[in-house]
Amino acid sequence: MVMDKLGSSLRDTLKKIARANRIDEKTISEVVKDIQRALLSADVNVKLVMQLSNRIKERASKEELTGRLGPREHIINIVYQELVAILGRPANVPLKGQTILMVGLQGSGKTTTSVKLARFFQKKGLKSAVVCADTYRPGAYDQLLQLCDKIGVAFYGEKDNSDAVEITRRGIVDMKRHDVIVVDTAGRHALESDLIREMELINEIAKAEQRLLVLDAAIGQQASEQAKAFNEAVGITGVVITKLDGTAKGGGALSAVADVGTSIAFIGTGETIDDLEKFEPDRFISRLLGMGDLKSLVEMMEEEPPIQEEDVEAMLKGKFTLKDMYKQMEAINKMGPIQKVMQMLPLGSFGVDLPDGALQSTKDTLTRFKYIMDSMTDEEMEDPHIIRSSRIRRISRGAGVPTEGVRELLKYHKLMQRAMKGVRNQKEMQKFLRKQGLK
Ligand code: GDP
Ligand code: MG
Repeated sequence: MVMDKLGSSLRDTLKKIARANRIDEKTISEVVKDIQRALLSADVNVKLVMQLSNRIKERASKEELTGRLGPREHIINIVYQELVAILGRPANVPLKGQTILMVGLQGSGKTTTSVKLARFFQKKGLKSAVVCADTYRPGAYDQLLQLCDKIGVAFYGEKDNSDAVEITRRGIVDMKRHDVIVVDTAGRHALESDLIREMELINEIAKAEQRLLVLDAAIGQQASEQAKAFNEAVGITGVVITKLDGTAKGGGALSAVADVGTSIAFIGTGETIDDLEKFEPDRFISRLLGMGDLKSLVEMMEEEPPIQEEDVEAMLKGKFTLKDMYKQMEAINKMGPIQKVMQMLPLGSFGVDLPDGALQSTKDTLTRFKYIMDSMTDEEMEDPHIIRSSRIRRISRGAGVPTEGVRELLKYHKLMQRAMKGVRNQKEMQKFLRKQGLK
């Protein structure tokens, strides 16, 4: 999970919204304070935090409720959208032949990311190569050569040459038959003027279409200053934030991106070569908030509900009988691919676990269950607890299914009933699901 700590504080805030008795100014200002605290302790800079909180406050107080969103979902949606907005648009790194120059401090993950990128393009069918222009770090040549060999990516380096500019010049010529050339450079502990000078020279030679700054997610507020220096030297076209898989706070790097007015191209989420993702702000925030695809959920909530309000009311008040379950399954089926619908529900973030089986309710299951239920008495439908072995045998004969089929239905009902209970305990979820006709 990326940015664990920030994610969990933000999730707590959303839960608070979901559980609030009412959404008034006081609630909103508490929510905003919570978000501020969470972001500040994740190293997001004050300016950005203030900007975000003002936007949330303003929209929460001014915007009218529209469509099918209730006041709680409305606020959750605003928070989500504004978090996505501060990340900006992702940097555009097209899938085509190009030269990519990697810059950043030592240890930020340049070499690892160079190889990940070469791999990324290789998987898309482009021939990629890496040039080792790091002549400072002992072993840089061997590290890169080994990594490239492992994935069959071309490598250019000159082990005993200490002139990184010269190596780059020759490397680019030597590798010109390749579509994508990634130039990995050196970085030291702090920003030194000769390092910056070297960067400028390499940049002139490489004429790279992409100049990617690699930032470690663990970097704090000093990230902005570094980003500015590298930007002045080479004109950064995008940022790669690495090590987001760790416990790093991440906010320093995110703030630097906003400060310099650049955008994130990729994120590194692990040590292996395939742990690189194209950066997508919505996905990133949904994941951070543990919400599945909230955007589609909201869009869907604005469409017609597949079952009637009265049915839903009855289900919520009642004891969740087999009839209710059937109606519910039917409704869910009408909404399209069940897995998709379920993934979009932020159930997890509200502390409700849906049984695994709930995701497997296909049309077939529905038909099978219908046959079985047709062989039940009204009494059994209303109160499935009375269905024991002898009744199971009778129902199974009547429906022409094995006894396991009947047991499966009863088990599914039990699981759903338990989940419903969890839901019912949470006022907000009741409303949430009701709006979509899921319950
Ligand atoms: P460089 O000095 O900038 O070239 O940094 P390296 O590529 O040598 O990486 C420094 C360390 O960070 C290595 O131990 C890498 O395995 C590790 N690293 C790089 N990217 C990631 C990442 O996305 N996640 C994790 N967990 N580790 C990473
Ligand atoms: Mg390196």
